[in-house]
Amino acid sequence: MKALVYHGPGHKSWDHVPDPTVSEPTDVVVRIDTTTICGTDLHILKGDVPTVEPGRLLGHEAVGTVVATGDAVSTLGEGDRVLVPAITSCGRCGYCKRAMPSHCQAVGGVGWIFGHLIDGTQAEYTRVPYAETSVHRVPEDVTDTQVLFLADILPTGYEVGVRNGNVKPGDTVAVVGAGPVGLAAIMTAGLHGASRVIAIDRVASRLEHAKQFGAGYTINASETDAAGIDARLAELTDGLGVDVAIEAVGLPETFETCARIVRPGGSVANIGVHGAPATLHLEELWIKNVTITTGLVDTTTVPMLLQLVRDGRIRAEQFGTHDFPLDSIDEAYDVFANAGRHNALKVVLKR
Ligand code: NAD
Ligand code: ZN
Repeated sequence: MKALVYHGPGHKSWDHVPDPTVSEPTDVVVRIDTTTICGTDLHILKGDVPTVEPGRLLGHEAVGTVVATGDAVSTLGEGDRVLVPAITSCGRCGYCKRAMPSHCQAVGGVGWIFGHLIDGTQAEYTRVPYAETSVHRVPEDVTDTQVLFLADILPTGYEVGVRNGNVKPGDTVAVVGAGPVGLAAIMTAGLHGASRVIAIDRVASRLEHAKQFGAGYTINASETDAAGIDARLAELTDGLGVDVAIEAVGLPETFETCARIVRPGGSVANIGVHGAPATLHLEELWIKNVTITTGLVDTTTVPMLLQLVRDGRIRAEQFGTHDFPLDSIDEAYDVFANAGRHNALKVVLKR
């Protein structure tokens, strides 16, 4: 088959590689019908994720068709259309049993293994371990593009942003970073009754997208400084700060912004993947009764999000701004890596 092979920092190629096969009784092999590229794949290509070894096939989001099943698989069969999410779940370990497969012990303690510790989904076929407890059947009434973004960004924005941040009816929510993940938090904040949603980004086109995804207010961080952001937020919140500040960038300064703009009794929900330490101003925060959360997505809310997609309550396909055939993946990477120039959110790759 053809697949995207990582050859170490800065290098990848669309190569001929051996077809994957069922190697454990709980595996299935899925033909990839639709897949996408994640910001994390760009981090890997920069060499930021050293646990990814050269030779690895990248990608951790897909919709596909089951073509082979292991002996222990009884509820999936050839021809079934499934969503392959970013997180693999054995369903049996202590973390899976407490609905936290982000730390599934059976797959090594971190549930994100596709395109990381095992071969991924930017390929014509992929082997899916612990298939029955990991994949989701896709109902006939939804398209691949409607369901694809439930593999990672939508549950990430919802679980790690909105739900961890404990967004409640009437809340004012600031989302710092309006990339696909921040937009997913904006899109799902309404599910918990957020009243006022404020998007903060440095790129004007991202803020335009944020309005379409449900932000009532935007702040362009490239046109002001920290004091300017604080002043505008004070104006929008009667001087109190926001109930929930969601960090969806992964930089020290954006985390510190969130910790500064949260009101007493509020929450800071960090989603961003950080590569450098941020300063935690406990000398200011200790008296504010705030909650700070972190997390890797679990994808346990996929069935709920899928129902909302089916009922037209979430228009997940809005994330797909550019379509490519799977074998034009190099071009798709160029567009995604230069998202600002192409006004891109997510690319959709189809077989
Ligand atoms: P992205 O790079 O597409 O989006 C980040 C956005 O932040 C961009 O729109 C950028 O313009 C904006 N930005 C950059 N610097 C800024 C600043 N100083 N102030 C305001 N905005 C700024 O990334 P994404 O795909 O949306 O992902 C967001 C973060 O979430 C990344 O760190 C990613 O690795 C992380 N992530 C976490 C999980 C998890 O489980 N916790 C899962 C997936 C992704
Ligand atoms: Zn497990």
